[in-house]
This record gives sequence, C-alpha cells and structure tokens, in this order.
Amino acid sequence: MKNEYDVVVAGAGPAGSWAARHAALGGARVLLLEKDREIGLPVRCAEGAPVDQLHALVDVDPGWIAREIRRGIIVAPDGREVEAWSGEKGYILHRKLFDAGLAQRASEAGAEVVTKAYVSGLIHNNGKAEGVRVRQLGEDKEIRARVVIGADGIESRVGRWAGLDTHTPVAEMESCVQMTLGNLDIDPETIKIWVGRSIAPGGYLWLFPKGPGWANVGLGIAGQYAAKKKAIDYLKAFVERMFPGAAVLSIVAGGVPTGPQLRTIVADGLMLTGDAAHHTDPLSGGGITNAMLGGKLAGETASDAIRHGDVSVRFLKRYQNAWDRARKKDLQLAYKIKKIVYDFDEEDLNRIADVVLALPLEKRTNFAIFKAALKKHPALVFQMAKVWVK
Ligand SMILES: Cc1cc2nc3c(=O)[nH]c(=O)nc-3n(C[C@H](O)[C@H](O)[C@H](O)COP(=O)(O)OP(=O)(O)OC[C@H]3O[C@@H](n4cnc5c(N)ncnc54)[C@H](O)[C@@H]3O)c2cc1C
Repeated sequence: MKNEYDVVVAGAGPAGSWAARHAALGGARVLLLEKDREIGLPVRCAEGAPVDQLHALVDVDPGWIAREIRRGIIVAPDGREVEAWSGEKGYILHRKLFDAGLAQRASEAGAEVVTKAYVSGLIHNNGKAEGVRVRQLGEDKEIRARVVIGADGIESRVGRWAGLDTHTPVAEMESCVQMTLGNLDIDPETIKIWVGRSIAPGGYLWLFPKGPGWANVGLGIAGQYAAKKKAIDYLKAFVERMFPGAAVLSIVAGGVPTGPQLRTIVADGLMLTGDAAHHTDPLSGGGITNAMLGGKLAGETASDAIRHGDVSVRFLKRYQNAWDRARKKDLQLAYKIKKIVYDFDEEDLNRIADVVLALPLEKRTNFAIFKAALKKHPALVFQMAKVWVK
C-alpha cells in the first residue's frame, strides 16, 4: 500500500470491485480495501441474479454459476403454486467465487487490492474528503486520495462520516435470515417464492436451488414485525414443516434496505455506491447487479473527475445523474408496488392467485392480470391501481 492514490474504494463487494475496475480502466491509480480476510466471505445472499443484467455488466466466468434457473413459482398462502415465468432467466451464483472473481478483474485492470484492511475513518479538509484511515494487520495508516468511494455495504459508515443522510426507518429495513439446506427433494431448475403474513410479514420466503438436493432457503420480514417475532423463528417453523429431513449446512443473517434510494450519494471528493447508497430493489431485495452498475458509473465518474482535475460535488453529481437516468424510475415503481403488495392480507393474495391461475402462462403479463382482476375483484384492483396512479 502506498500513501497516496487517485481513488480509494472502501469495501470489495460487487459495488466496490466494479467501481475499482472502472476507475482503473479510466486511467486512475486505484486502491481497493476490504476489511475481511477473504473477499466474498461470509456469503450473506441468496445468490440469485438475472442473466441478461449480469451479462450486460461482466464477461461471466462459467465457474461462478452454481445453477441456471428456468422456472419461477409463487406459492400463495393457501398453498397453491402459481407459475410466474419459465424459460432461461436466472442464475444462482457461487457468491464467494463471484465476488473474488470481480476483485480479480479489478486488479487485472490495474487496481491494487488489499484485504484485512479496515477503513476506520475519513480524512476531511474543510468538509471535503481527502482520503481514509485504515487499520491493516494491527497498524493504523492514513491514505490520501482525491476521490473516496464508499462501497461498504449495508453497514456503511463512509456516508455518515461524510455528513450524508443515510438513515433508514425500521419499516424500510428488511430483516433477513437464510439457511443453506441439503438433503432436499427439489427441482434444481426452479426457484420458489412463498408469500403471506404468516410466512414472512412484509416480505417473502425464497428457495433458490444451488444444485440437485441443496438450496438457499431464507426469508425477509419488514423491520416493524421483527420486534414481535424474529425472522429466524419464522424460518425455523417453515423448514420444520416443509423440509423436516433437511441438513442445515449454514445459517446467515443480514439486512436489506427496501426503502427509497438515498437522496444524496455524492459529496466533495466522495461517492457512495451499492447497498451503501441503498440501491437494492425495494420489492425483491436484489442488489447484486445494481451494485455493479452503480460501481461502474461511480468508477467511470471518478476517473473522469481526476482527468478534469475537479472532484467537487458539482462534478461528481454526474454519477448520481447517470444512476438516476439508468435506474431511478424502475426502483421508484418497485417501491410503490412493494408498499401495496406487502399490505395485502392472505385472502387478497389468494384472490390474486385465482386470477393468475385462470390465465394461460403465456398471458400472465402485468396488464392481463390487472384486467382479469378488474373483472373479478374490483376492490383489489383499486388497491393495485395505486401503483400506477401517482
Ligand atoms: C439474506 C440476503 C439475501 C440476499 N439475496 C440476494 C439475491 O439473491 N440477489 C441479489 O441480487 N441480492 C441479494 N441480496 C442483496 C445483495 O447481497 C447486496 O445487494 C449486494 O451484496 C450489495 O453489494 P455491495 O458491494 O454494495 O455490498 P456488499 O456485498 O455487502 O459488500 C460490501 C463490502 O464492504 C466490506 N466493508 C464493510 N465495511 C468496511 C470497512 N469499514 N472497511 C473495509 N471494508 C468494509 C464488507 O466486508 C463487504 O465485503 C441479499 C441480501 C441478503 C442479506
């Protein structure tokens, strides 16, 4: 590690590695710092990613893929299975290999990657970020940088240190827990989602196959419910009921921000990206490809800023504008849908299942579902309409 770089990135998840790679490709001298001793571990993720979005962002190494998924099923509260889509649509990744692979790609582009390097503070000068404090192998260091990129995930502190408003209301934070289960009798090409307040209030439960006989099975519940009954208790009850003979290979817990994205993600000399910027999809909780896209845009803006000799908030706002153009509308819509759908009671969800099951698979588009629901359950449609009407 040197004492000075053009760009320092805190956190080597998908956002940080992709920011580091793209800043280095733009000609910047880049340092990528990761607090854990091994990039990609621990895995706090169900590891699902949309095929088309991933290929648009990276030349995918086949070794990163645990499973190709061809079918998605939603299970209504009354147990009926509704096929939501079929065809080649998703990957279940090996996040450990994937995250390590992305960091490797960052280093191939010229970024220096250092693990066991905990970013413990920002260096400020008149409100402008000018570097970071790092604790590495028991030693404290100060690293100067013209741009700092905070890609330090859901527990992000970089934004707070820079004075940005990173607060998340409890109701907008999903409390997640996941078991990797073995000894399962499942279709390894089908993901399943269970919905309903008794299973996962304010969220959903997922089964993402990693291969024949094993899968990530987890759930997220909205923060306000977690005080009454913990996410792990919902998951244990489900696993005991549905998979009594399963082997529990691992258990992880984590949070996912499911509110609106942060209003401001840039400051003088500083940008936030990935979960640190609350760039997860509020409805699905997915954040891998958003983190990579945000990282790419932040990295490109950082190297442009270095070339122009202007790292002011005014210049770095180009990153926030590029992000907003690419994803803001979609995430706002997902947020609106989440607010409505997570409010449905189990009867409402069963009625929606009636409507969808009555449509042939190839006709199950949002519009067709909406039209069919309008005929059968006008009151339900009134609720659903709130999503489309401002
Ligand atoms: C249970 C669960 C299931 C999920 N399932 C999916 C899914 O199936 N599909 C999907 O797309 N998304 C999923 N997500 C969300 C997804 O994991 C995140 O959106 C994604 O990892 C965000 O990437 P990131 O790089 O922003 O953050 P992270 O992947 O969290 O990376 C941040 C990195 O920063 C490091 N770091 C933190 N603080 C410091 C510091 N001070 N100094 C140095 N390093 C630091 C961390 O160690 C970590 O390596 C899930 C999340 C959870 C909790």
